[in-house]
Amino acid sequence: MNVKQGASTVNAKQQVKTMKAAVVNEFNQKLEIKEVPIPDLEYGEILVKIKACGVCHTDLHAVHGDWPVKPKLPLIPGHEGVGIIEKVAEGVTSLKVGDRVGIPWLYSACGDCEYCLTGRETLCLDQLNAGYSVDGGYAEYCKAPAKYVVKVPEGLTLRRYHRFSVQV
Ligand SMILES: [Zn+2]
Ligand SMILES: [Zn+2]
Repeated sequence: MNVKQGASTVNAKQQVKTMKAAVVNEFNQKLEIKEVPIPDLEYGEILVKIKACGVCHTDLHAVHGDWPVKPKLPLIPGHEGVGIIEKVAEGVTSLKVGDRVGIPWLYSACGDCEYCLTGRETLCLDQLNAGYSVDGGYAEYCKAPAKYVVKVPEGLTLRRYHRFSVQV
């Protein structure tokens, strides 16, 4: 396994690596298990090998396209993914390969608006949501910005983490 920085650039020139994922192609259809490319990392992002992902009612709303603001399609749902970091991109200083993290519903926020600057990022109008506006955890791998993932402490099993990760 090559986890050095820049590995993704090298891989991109070789054959594209794929992973299994559960994909929503159209609303109100069954999820399709298919091979899709493992996401490439951008600055500040991490790649997580997903160990488990909860099923929340929000995921069902996403699959059905129930809400006025629709999720992207095709979509990999799941905002309770938890796993082990397999790769870190340039600019990641707070986490390292092997760390256990959860990828929450609040995937990222702008960091500059009134809400973000007062610790209320969940109200940010430019927020992205895992398994909704970006691909989530119903896959072998999921990428995420290092700043917004939740480190799972030693002594907390990944299964128990799920109980705390339910936010929406
Ligand atoms: Zn914001
Ligand atoms: Zn949820």
